[in-house]
Amino acid sequence: MVQSSKIFYVFSPDLEPAAKAKVGDKVIFYTLDALGGQITSEDQVITSIDFSRVNPATGPLYIEGAEPGDALLVKILSINTSERGFVVTAPNAGALPNMVKEAKTRACYVRGDYVEFMGFKLPTRKMVGVIGVASSERTPTGLPGKHGGNLDTRFVTEGSTVILPVEYPGALLGIGDVHATMGDGEVCVSACEVSAEVAVEVNLIKGLAPMWPVVQYGDYIHVLVSNEKMDKALEEGIDLAVKILSLGLNLSWDDSYMMASLAVDIGVSQLVNPKKTIRIQIPSYLLPLENILRTLNKLREYY
Ligand code: CA
Ligand code: CA
Repeated sequence: MVQSSKIFYVFSPDLEPAAKAKVGDKVIFYTLDALGGQITSEDQVITSIDFSRVNPATGPLYIEGAEPGDALLVKILSINTSERGFVVTAPNAGALPNMVKEAKTRACYVRGDYVEFMGFKLPTRKMVGVIGVASSERTPTGLPGKHGGNLDTRFVTEGSTVILPVEYPGALLGIGDVHATMGDGEVCVSACEVSAEVAVEVNLIKGLAPMWPVVQYGDYIHVLVSNEKMDKALEEGIDLAVKILSLGLNLSWDDSYMMASLAVDIGVSQLVNPKKTIRIQIPSYLLPLENILRTLNKLREYY
């Protein structure tokens, strides 16, 4: 069994691989929480921790045979979290940055199918916040982008498959920032931040690197688009959705625009990272994954 517990902070091609895997291998990533394990009680706040140790990703994993231009498929087999996590907020953080008067930390407790917060029972929604590959932009692990990264998308969960564009040989996959539960948006800047053991299976589709990360979950295919501005992310995502439908279904642009209006759900993954992430949710009954990947691969050449 391939496993890794080494951490890094930049999705860079210069990193030494922490482990190597072959196509079809099962790999276990031991991840720290997004606070780098620095907060162990409610008395500690995010403003007093070492920020250079925030948002660690585990890896990178070198996948043999992965070449630039390939699509890397990461199937999330299981996520086992720590039993206790922390939620943090601070002035100037989150969706209401001017409203927070002082930094605050609360514990949350994972109890099987629910998470306890302040005595309330919330459904457990285990998810991986950070999943990405080495990029020429050498993107810090706190940012989302075309390489993946800090996507904070709750559909990156057990049973889902994340598809990322390989930019360097071996892909150099990293995983971190697991949440025991999170609402879409992650409005206060954090979720129930936990350490975890994430088991994945890696596969490749040669030559089909998508221009943005894709998540297949249940009967839907989500394309994740990130931008500094939420309205720009939405505009690009909707534009992509129409192009995907037009090329995949052989419809005119106008007809695809209407089809998108009828069948595509637009969602917010997170609106609190330096770049915001939205998702366009395309139902599999309209287009299979391979078809969407083909379009996203083709469009990659034009951007
Ligand atoms: Ca995150
Ligand atoms: Ca987080």
